[in-house]
Amino acid sequence: MEKMSVGVIGATGMVGQNYLRLLKDHPWFEVTYVAASPRSAGKTYAEAVAGRWVTDEDIPSAVAGLIVGDAGNIEEAEGKCELVFSAVDMDKQAVRELEEAYAGNDIPVISNNSAHRWTEDVPMFIPEINPHHTDIIPFQRQNRGWNKGLIAVKPNCSLQSYLPAVYPLMAAGYAVESIFVATLQGVSGAGYPGPASIDMIDNIVPFIGGEEKKTEQEPWKILGSIADGKLVNDDSITIAAHCNRVAVTDGHTACVSLQFKAQKPSLDEIVAIWRAFEGEPQQLDLPSAPKPCIIYREEQDRPQPRKDRDAGKAMAISVGRLRECPLFDIRFVALSHNTVRGAAGGAILSAELLKAKGYL
Ligand code: NAP
Repeated sequence: MEKMSVGVIGATGMVGQNYLRLLKDHPWFEVTYVAASPRSAGKTYAEAVAGRWVTDEDIPSAVAGLIVGDAGNIEEAEGKCELVFSAVDMDKQAVRELEEAYAGNDIPVISNNSAHRWTEDVPMFIPEINPHHTDIIPFQRQNRGWNKGLIAVKPNCSLQSYLPAVYPLMAAGYAVESIFVATLQGVSGAGYPGPASIDMIDNIVPFIGGEEKKTEQEPWKILGSIADGKLVNDDSITIAAHCNRVAVTDGHTACVSLQFKAQKPSLDEIVAIWRAFEGEPQQLDLPSAPKPCIIYREEQDRPQPRKDRDAGKAMAISVGRLRECPLFDIRFVALSHNTVRGAAGGAILSAELLKAKGYL
């Protein structure tokens, strides 16, 4: 199969670097274009990230010499790529307009930015949970007069550590009433250079701007349905979140207590449901789909960020410490890699889903 040429806008940032690393040997996609702010434009990619290349692997040789484009100048991308992954960090209105301009120029956009997360005809994917939301794309194209263009987004990284563990229980018929979640989020979630080291070492910061609202409300869209050409939220689950920044490089951990609406599965049944869970990405054998999707750890002190964040090429969700909860019904700990599953890897999986369904 001939590879699809793709661009990464915001390629010099934390998430952008992870895109380049993950796309290095991708069987379907090949990076042919990189862009960032005017500060980086005109330099080779290697020059633009000098001193701030933060991932452990070297810069992929195929992109090191690419000249960085200005992400704001769409003409530069035309003819160079058939799709862009967007990891730009800019003012939300500017991101909305920029992503719409790419899509309007026949360049589909898969975005990590929050700008379009609440746009009614834009799907927000965790591909194992809501693969059917691809059905909104024909409405999106019709609404906007787009032919090949589309916009699809990823949710906030915090909820990708726990929602993929909650959803299989719902899919098995156990409706969820409410969730209490305390997150322990790695510093890479704040981009590079992130919080000052002096604020993080020997410390926990119990505030991440806007994060609690995102982790409480974005699940409503992901769990929602399509009606009259729009995505309709399902806000029947009440979620209360405490989001904390901790001195961990990569990996978001979530301590979850959960209450079911009526019927409650046994602990053994829950573990069995997690272990058997397969979403459409696994069934379609998409290249980035982790198998298994959920790894249940029996050890009493797992999951841990350093030991478990890279499970399933950093795309699996690691879960452990399932036990009864004296306040709610059950409690457990879940973990995912925030810049891979929670950002670049999750977006690549979304693009694979859209391609497998013929939208790209
Ligand atoms: P980052 O490390 O700060 O990188 C920001 C990127 O945006 C850089 O490539 C930067 O280019 C570019 N940029 C900034 N201003 C621009 C402008 N005016 N025009 C064009 N490009 C511009 O941020 P990040 O952590 O990679 O996050 C990127 C996006 O993903 C954000 O929206 C973030 O909320 C979201 N996200 C992040 C994570 C995570 O775990 N880090 C997870 C999920 C979602 P220069 O290098 O040239 O300045």
